[in-house]
Amino acid sequence: MALIVQKFGGTSVGSVERIRHVAQWALDCQAKGDQIVLVVSAMSGETNRLVELATQINPIPYSREYDLLIASGEQIAVGLVTLAINTEAAKRGLIKPGESRARGLLGHQIGILTDQIYSKARIQEIDTTLLRKEISRQVIPVIAGFQGVDSENNITTLGRGGSDTSAVAIAAALKADDCEIYTDVDGVYTTDPRLCKEARKISKISYEEMMELASLGAKVLQIRSVELAAKYRLPLHVRSSFDPVEGTRVVSQEDLGGAMEQVVVAGVAADASQVKFTLQNISEGPGVAAKLFGSLSRAAIVVDVIVQDIPSHGVLTVSFTVGKTDALKASQVLDEIKRTSFPAMKIVEERDLAKVSIVGVGMQHHPGVASKMFSLLAEAGIDIKLITTSEIKVSCLIAESQMKSAVQCLHQGFELHRL
Ligand code: ADP
Ligand code: ASP
Ligand code: MG
Repeated sequence: MALIVQKFGGTSVGSVERIRHVAQWALDCQAKGDQIVLVVSAMSGETNRLVELATQINPIPYSREYDLLIASGEQIAVGLVTLAINTEAAKRGLIKPGESRARGLLGHQIGILTDQIYSKARIQEIDTTLLRKEISRQVIPVIAGFQGVDSENNITTLGRGGSDTSAVAIAAALKADDCEIYTDVDGVYTTDPRLCKEARKISKISYEEMMELASLGAKVLQIRSVELAAKYRLPLHVRSSFDPVEGTRVVSQEDLGGAMEQVVVAGVAADASQVKFTLQNISEGPGVAAKLFGSLSRAAIVVDVIVQDIPSHGVLTVSFTVGKTDALKASQVLDEIKRTSFPAMKIVEERDLAKVSIVGVGMQHHPGVASKMFSLLAEAGIDIKLITTSEIKVSCLIAESQMKSAVQCLHQGFELHRL
């Protein structure tokens, strides 16, 4: 008997029909002898709708009440999925009137304790007592993803796509045998199949490569869910809720076997919502970067690519990128830094940018991968605005309008369609 945590994303609970399907699937899996725990996201489009309402009222809405609001989508999905399981269980004669086969639970009801960084909270602890009790009585816990509670009982949320992280954290806390992420694609592909028809499904991928892909824009898994899975050595199975075929296994490098070693580039990722800030005319001196990025980090802004030019005539230029949702807040923080520390600083903001990246563990032993990427982009007439590299990735900042063609030319150029 295996203990399996199954997470269903927005599209997978996007209609009454899909919710009935989830209920049937969970009961079928239980009938095969497994113990099932469900984690569900809000119905597709619901969180976006709530975010949109909040930003109409305040363009920088992040606060306690913002989390209270956007966490509500998951409550609806939990209610509906639990109702569907109990209705189906009654139909199958599994329960008598008045009994339940599933129990809906919100983050605070099972003690998903987080820190207090609203809209980007991190899980600190999960109390599994209630979950274990329900599982042992053959009741399926249906847990709201994306949400938790801080030490003062405030509702918090884990960042967009955070239900993946809820599922992995719950699976780790329960020491589950498997964590299945059900979504609207049947696995992790060499690139977003919506951007490139030639994308190929990857049967197994290492945590390291998946972390890079996720952090660089492949939203099929939230980056933090992969970090947690790697930390607890928990295998993930990304699969479709529409088609019961085998999906992609996210595993440790040792479990990958030798085959992947020959692959230099395993995937191409793209992230559309990038904003670049260029700070010119900053007086040179020790602690400049600490001052700039310290203020941004205290405002919980995630800064991505950073480039500092060599100082000339006592002044320097620093560029960095942030995601679109943080841009307005970043701009406010920079205005404040200018006022208090660098009055001569000029702030230039560039929008409508995208980041395209190639990822592969094999890259670290193969010279010339980055230069091939630059040549492929140049041949496609795509101008590169910033470059960053690590051992297993190369990222280029380009115009958002060229993102799709960049993904396609890199996918083709690195022959990922042949994998
Ligand atoms: P869910 O609501 O189930 O969490 P998401 O929309 O968050 O689903 O993630 C699934 C989507 O991720 C897919 O529809 C696909 O467009 C996108 N995606 C981006 N990169 C990849 C990739 N490399 N492989 C698979 N899907 C990807
Ligand atoms: N509903 C949340 C979101 O849209 C969490 C998730 O889908 O994982 O970001
Ligand atoms: Mg998601």
